[in-house]
Amino acid sequence: MRLLIAQMKHETNTFSPVPTPLARFAHGGSRPYEGDEIREAFTGTGTAIGAFLDLAEKAGASVVLPVAGNAAPSGPVARDAYEYLTGRIVDAAAKGCDAILLDLHGAMVPEGLDDGEGELLRRIRVVAPQVPIGVALDMHTNLFPAMAEHATVLAGYQTYPHVDMFETGQRAARPILAMLEGRARPAMAFGHRPMLPHVMRQSSLDSPNREIQARARQMEASGTLAATFFVGFPHADIPFAGASAVVVTDGEAARARRECDELLDIAWRDRAAFVYAIEPLEKSIERAARIDARPVVLLDHYDNCASGGTMDTMTVLGAMLDAGLEDAAAFAIFDPQAVKQMQAAGAGANVTLELGGRLDMPALGLKGKPRTVSGMVKRLVDGRYRNEGPMAKGERGDMGPSALLDTGRIEIAVISRHVEPYDMGSFRALGMDPAKKRYLMLKSRVHWRAGLGPLAKAVVECAGTGVCTSDYSQLHFRRVRRPVFPLDAER
Ligand SMILES: [Zn+2]
Repeated sequence: MRLLIAQMKHETNTFSPVPTPLARFAHGGSRPYEGDEIREAFTGTGTAIGAFLDLAEKAGASVVLPVAGNAAPSGPVARDAYEYLTGRIVDAAAKGCDAILLDLHGAMVPEGLDDGEGELLRRIRVVAPQVPIGVALDMHTNLFPAMAEHATVLAGYQTYPHVDMFETGQRAARPILAMLEGRARPAMAFGHRPMLPHVMRQSSLDSPNREIQARARQMEASGTLAATFFVGFPHADIPFAGASAVVVTDGEAARARRECDELLDIAWRDRAAFVYAIEPLEKSIERAARIDARPVVLLDHYDNCASGGTMDTMTVLGAMLDAGLEDAAAFAIFDPQAVKQMQAAGAGANVTLELGGRLDMPALGLKGKPRTVSGMVKRLVDGRYRNEGPMAKGERGDMGPSALLDTGRIEIAVISRHVEPYDMGSFRALGMDPAKKRYLMLKSRVHWRAGLGPLAKAVVECAGTGVCTSDYSQLHFRRVRRPVFPLDAER
């Protein structure tokens, strides 16, 4: 048995000014992993591609590994990067294989295209019309019909924070392997509801997504091969942004349809609970100052790099400095230029520099606003680490050259590659101990709960500035299908 295994992951925020060239998929090298590099990077990791490699080995299959690229979320993918990634996969598929297993995101928007994954699958079908294709997807998939029409099996994460990437790889691959052995005939149904669940209300630790995902798991426990409800990624101005579902059964098309509709109906019924209420920043900071517990997480959810944020807006960190909050840590400000200045000054040096605010945000009509910060360069590191888990356990992390700037009140992590704070590994790489701080500012929305949730004694959500703004009125949607809840009043 010959299996083609590949990864092509990017969540595209069409409002983000952060560019997405091929280098962003390249793990610090000049091109994404291929061949044995993939085996070396992902074997034994808690990722979907890690599960594919594991299942292939157990099945005694030979594997073809054309490419594995996973870029941090940002603006539309450069067209040459998209052509490179898809070209490697399609060329390998053209050479022939028994099945194809893909670790995709589901919300990739290349330049000039709305649906990166659907177009990849369409191109594969041109050279491999009959080969079974199993696809693992992120819960933030914006499902275009082409994805479901060209794939044999789609399975998405059932957790947010995403701590079931490995299991999702298994759910996508097992029906395909069973099919090859003549033990299954996957039948798939998919559908949508016209709603944009708010990211701050999407966690599977909270209602209503907790119950929807539990129902999907229950369906699988009763014999359905894969049941998925996608919350969707709303910061993408494309027709199929938003909620969708896909259910795969063993030959029971009517059951797949019925269960898919059931998941969508629950989400639509509970749509009001997917709407997020925003607290003004001054109130949040005042409230945080009164909380008698440690650490208090101050969540800068408008500027989460894992939703395409520039990770360099200074609004929330600035408010903390202005309020005189102390015994605090902040993770992180993306500012390669500031890191270079601190490297030049050296560890232990006192510096005054312009921090953050390097990137303008034209989609929001905003200019980047740096802030002058003084402090001591406490530590300089290369920024490499391995994830400790539970999310993407064992996967390599790379913040690029990084510095810890200590203002005396706040320890600020300054990094050169976008990394969302969801794993203790990134803190340890900088010698930070977040559990010991009174305040912990995180540029994140939900994933921080994977690695840091257990240590937080209180959480204050802070409305700052950024292209993953929680205030939809700041975003100019032109292309998303309308009407869509909650942008449009209901009829
Ligand atoms: Zn996601």
